Amino acid sequence: MTPPTLTPDLAERLAALVTGDPATTYTTTAVFTGGDLATLPRSTVADVHTAYERAARAQPAWADTPLAERLAVFDRFHSLLLRERDIVTDLIQAETGKARRDAFEEFCEPALVTSYYLRVAPRLLRARRRAGLLPGVIGARELRQPKGVVGIIAPWNYPLALSIGDLIPALIAGNAVVLKPDSQTPLSPLLGADLLYRAGLPDDLLQVVLGDGPVIGGAVVDTCDYLGFTGSSATGALIAERAGRRLVGCSLELGGKNPMVVLDDADLAHTARTAVRACFANAGQLCLSLERIYVHDSVLDRFTDAFVAETGRLRLAAGYDYGADMGSLTSQRALKTVAEHVDDARAKGATVLAGGQARPDLGPYFYEPTVLAGVTPDMRCHAEETFGPVVSLYPFADDDEAVALANQTPYGLNAGVFGRDRRRAAALGARLRVGTVNVNDGFTSAYGSTDAPMGGMGASGLGRRHGADGLLKYTEAQTIATQRFGALNPPRWLPYGLYAKVMTRSLRLLRRLRLR
Ligand code: NAD
Repeated sequence: MTPPTLTPDLAERLAALVTGDPATTYTTTAVFTGGDLATLPRSTVADVHTAYERAARAQPAWADTPLAERLAVFDRFHSLLLRERDIVTDLIQAETGKARRDAFEEFCEPALVTSYYLRVAPRLLRARRRAGLLPGVIGARELRQPKGVVGIIAPWNYPLALSIGDLIPALIAGNAVVLKPDSQTPLSPLLGADLLYRAGLPDDLLQVVLGDGPVIGGAVVDTCDYLGFTGSSATGALIAERAGRRLVGCSLELGGKNPMVVLDDADLAHTARTAVRACFANAGQLCLSLERIYVHDSVLDRFTDAFVAETGRLRLAAGYDYGADMGSLTSQRALKTVAEHVDDARAKGATVLAGGQARPDLGPYFYEPTVLAGVTPDMRCHAEETFGPVVSLYPFADDDEAVALANQTPYGLNAGVFGRDRRRAAALGARLRVGTVNVNDGFTSAYGSTDAPMGGMGASGLGRRHGADGLLKYTEAQTIATQRFGALNPPRWLPYGLYAKVMTRSLRLLRRLRLR
């Protein structure tokens, strides 16, 4: 089931954007059927070096281009992206197998990010006056210089959002980019690159390489001047170590085992409907997905009934229309992990309240949305990230217990807290060791708030996307301090001891006047 919009012309144009030998190719999978989707060049380590050199040659002129001219490219990109919605969502679906509504939500991310940074980049990137050492004598300014060539390594679950959405602020800040998408999901990132070039991005500024993670991804880490990585915590740790050896900075957006807390005053109908989306959007293959639900004892039975009923209403299907609520898993590997987690829990005594089966009748990698109860610490799904449509329900007696249970994980990405008393819910959320808390929601409220930072604590990552951090992490702060006259050199006739006394008095005076 290849979408009709993936014409041979488009496939050829996208393949031509890869820095690699057109004679050495591989083929991606059309997830809904398991058949072939697209044939693309495979890059070598030498190609990664070529990509870096081309990007590095193009970058200085781009950094020297006035910001308003740089931003005009992204303004045109925004319009083009919205115009090409159908092709973009087709390609995302074809290479991931997700439902069209999930593909549409993914498509919104680069549009929101572009629009946000178009508004705030002039303020965030402009030179700022800083208080100099001596008022009136020494002036200081802070500049934001681009890092140079930024490497972006992206996963397969949100291939457009987590590549193009992350590299747009890097380009806006004056960098060039070498992008390595996941090998299964290069089409939507390549289409994003194609749209950027059509919008006027200078030649060579964005390079795309494709190939094996450790080899080609490793070569990106070994060459870039800064790295933005999204993927698993295990790979993130390897990358941080490798980047650290060259003293190259990186931001890491990693995995999660995200909790949801249902307080005793929650609106249960709203909570159950929202939880279904928060657990099963993108078939649970979402770093922000909620995989553990803690419910106050007093509402456990009523919430469970409502949640299981909502889960049962989800429509699973393959297809390029908006008919399905949930689509397929993306690979045999993902299907295997999900089935193993559920089978392991079932074998050790958990109760399957909904789902619990693969659905080969719908497509090779479909699995039902699954709700478990009675999950204990010896079961894999208790603490390991399933990264699929599997969620476990647990009771709690009071707020302190809910916080303790929710925090019982090395991860710290995202949480949802549900309660009619929003202040109480938000106060409980602030006690959770997670980067984002959604009150009466699962993940969309925090993720969609592009003005607010987004990322993980603990094993869920380093650094943030979105907000000021999401742009400034791609820059180096540079201070230019200018001494107006030689005021810091003591005059030759003044003994240094006397100079030290005068300066000490000055420090006292400056403190009193609150000038320094
Ligand atoms: P992964 O770590 O296996 O791969 C991610 C990317 O890194 C791929 O492009 C892969 O080819 C590359 N890669 C793999 N090994 C590498 C290495 N040694 N050196 C350099 N690059 C390497 O992760 P995945 O299975 O593709 O993605 C799923 C994981 O990503 C889940 O844990 C999920 O929670 C996480 N994730 C996090 C976020 C977030 O924003 N925090 C978003 C999406 C996914």
